[in-house]
Amino acid sequence: MSVATAKSMTRDDVMREAGKYITNPESVELIRHAADYAYKHHEGQFRKSGEPYTVHLDNVAYILAELRCGPKTIAAGFLHDTIEDTGITREELAAEFDDEIADLVEAVTKIGALKFRDKNDPEYQAANHRKIFIAMAKDVRVILIKLSDRLHNMRTLEFQPEASQKRISQETLDVYAPIAHRLGISQIKNELEDLCFMYLNPEEYHRIAHLVEAKKAERDNSVTQMITDITKLLKEHHLEFRIFGRSKHLYSIYHKMESKQKRFDEILDLLAIRIVTKTELNCYEILGYIHATYTPIQGRLKDYIAVPKQNMYQSIHTTIIGFEGKIFEVQIRTERMDEIAEMGVAAHWRYKEGSRYDAKTEQKEIEEKLSLFRDFAEFAGDNESASEYMDSLRRDVFETSVYVMTPMGRVIDLPNGATPIDFAYRVHTEVGHTAVGAIVNDAMVPLNTELHTGDVVQIKTMKGTGPSEDWLKIVKTNQARNKIRAYLQHKENEKKAEKIPAGEKILIDELKRRGFDPDEYVEKRRLEAALPEFKMKDINDLFYAIAVKSINPVKVVEKLTNEKRSVADEMLSRILAREAPKRKQTSHNGIIVPGIESMKMTLAQCCNPVYGDEIRGYITKNEGVKVHRADCRNIAGMTQRMISVEWDTEDTDRTYESNLTIVAHDRNFLLTDIVTCTSQFKTPMNQVSASVNRENLTSTIKMNVSVRNLDQLQNLIANLRKIESVISVERNSH
Ligand code: MN
Repeated sequence: MSVATAKSMTRDDVMREAGKYITNPESVELIRHAADYAYKHHEGQFRKSGEPYTVHLDNVAYILAELRCGPKTIAAGFLHDTIEDTGITREELAAEFDDEIADLVEAVTKIGALKFRDKNDPEYQAANHRKIFIAMAKDVRVILIKLSDRLHNMRTLEFQPEASQKRISQETLDVYAPIAHRLGISQIKNELEDLCFMYLNPEEYHRIAHLVEAKKAERDNSVTQMITDITKLLKEHHLEFRIFGRSKHLYSIYHKMESKQKRFDEILDLLAIRIVTKTELNCYEILGYIHATYTPIQGRLKDYIAVPKQNMYQSIHTTIIGFEGKIFEVQIRTERMDEIAEMGVAAHWRYKEGSRYDAKTEQKEIEEKLSLFRDFAEFAGDNESASEYMDSLRRDVFETSVYVMTPMGRVIDLPNGATPIDFAYRVHTEVGHTAVGAIVNDAMVPLNTELHTGDVVQIKTMKGTGPSEDWLKIVKTNQARNKIRAYLQHKENEKKAEKIPAGEKILIDELKRRGFDPDEYVEKRRLEAALPEFKMKDINDLFYAIAVKSINPVKVVEKLTNEKRSVADEMLSRILAREAPKRKQTSHNGIIVPGIESMKMTLAQCCNPVYGDEIRGYITKNEGVKVHRADCRNIAGMTQRMISVEWDTEDTDRTYESNLTIVAHDRNFLLTDIVTCTSQFKTPMNQVSASVNRENLTSTIKMNVSVRNLDQLQNLIANLRKIESVISVERNSH
């Protein structure tokens, strides 16, 4: 195959090639219309080569026609760059053509926006990129268009700067050529490989090209002689067949020399002949006559008819000693096998007029029949049966992973069910820690929204915020979970550290009060000796326990000094205790019941009280005390089982969830304004949903925010009410 001389095709060439198998006037008109439309919208655009942009479209469409794709695929081929380069939207394409074509173009555009990681990235794995590509494509026609697009771009790569040539070639060799191979499209695969080879390793490319050229006359002569001999032999047996010589593509020669450590002249199958006949039986007959006439080389017979390759390839290969003792590789196959060998999936799906095309059936058959996925087995381990492998791969590609993108097109792979929080932590730890909202495909969504392949995700962050315990229940990746845990642990430690000096001071005061010299007793060795008594391992833990009153400092003093309190001392401490301010009570959820040491308390979900609200407790049968807002309808008029409760004024660093309902006249950017306002008040938004009432054109926005106290909440509400077109903002109470 001569790669450098691929001829540039025109729009007429496309119509002629497509006309070979598409004759239905409507279909021809569709292609013509797509071409007109693309020409009109790309007008005035030029490629780096200086040619009009439409030359690229003609050639992509032509390759698709060569692959015998259907009229919609060829139309999409003409249109494949309209979304990307002319600002046409998917909706406009759907209106002008139909949803199917619009979807194809949109999918091609999305794949085009993918930024694969480069080879220097430690996480780089070409196999992953291929999976991403296929998962994103969803439809094999999208892959065919993208491959045709890439093939033409590779053919015209000479107009790109050298750095781009190398980068694009490497990506093509890593991602696109293997996909063409998986799909069995050897025509495209071979040409892509040779082009990549030429740009990535020009010296070797030209060396091998030269060797091939130098021996060409001699080889051609041998092949011609051999063809004559075999033709005569087979004619005697009245067989129908086509026979021709074929040349290996340069990259495969290079690859063979590299992998088998052989010199050019040691490569056995440089002289190759292909015989294409009618039936499978004919193939075996021909093999029989050839082996009867020429000596086959042991171990070189391969029957891919009985055992097809995973990409559907079927053929018989044998190597014989032929004309003048030269070694020839002979391939024997049927017409159908030959077509599949050259065009793979495209041959399988070649467009037949009159038959009804159904994208779903096609997908299903592809998943069932194609090797595409089975070939990834190399990465999944051997010894799995094909069907088991298919299952695991389907899980792997279609279920286990979702592939989403940053607005810049970088691909992030996540496990199924992953949320924007997982995404945020994957992008950067700090983005995760300060995430307050997410925009998925241009719409604001709650942080617990499940992401899907192809989503474009953007994270809204706010300095000074941090992850909450609840996030641990939402996230799916260990990475996010570990980082959230580490953050919470760190916060916990900070809090603890703050209380240690207070604990130490309480102990010193108690010692002083009892007449002991603190310097003598608050000393490392003595303190450490006392630790086992309190089941502690660290002095700081002991101070912390004293500070939070889980250990009585009196007991610590007794242990340190080995002296019990005297009776007088005991009495004195009682008198002091009576005069001292009321002892702190243990609170639950930041609430205390006056006079009662500890009681289980939960905030009622109906009215969601926040710190500062007037509150009442209701004693439930099994769940302790439910705390409602004093004005909650659910406790209106109740007296029995009611108990007075108070906010714990020493426990103010909690946050409380509050549900707000905002009613507004619907307008553009309403939600954006509400979200912006909410973030300005440092109230993390946990959830937001909006619905439009079509009758009076009002929008109802429900959101759940976290606030520290009533002041903050009232402040937020007052400011939400100031937003243009907002009618009312109310806290929910139901
Ligand atoms: Mn293109």
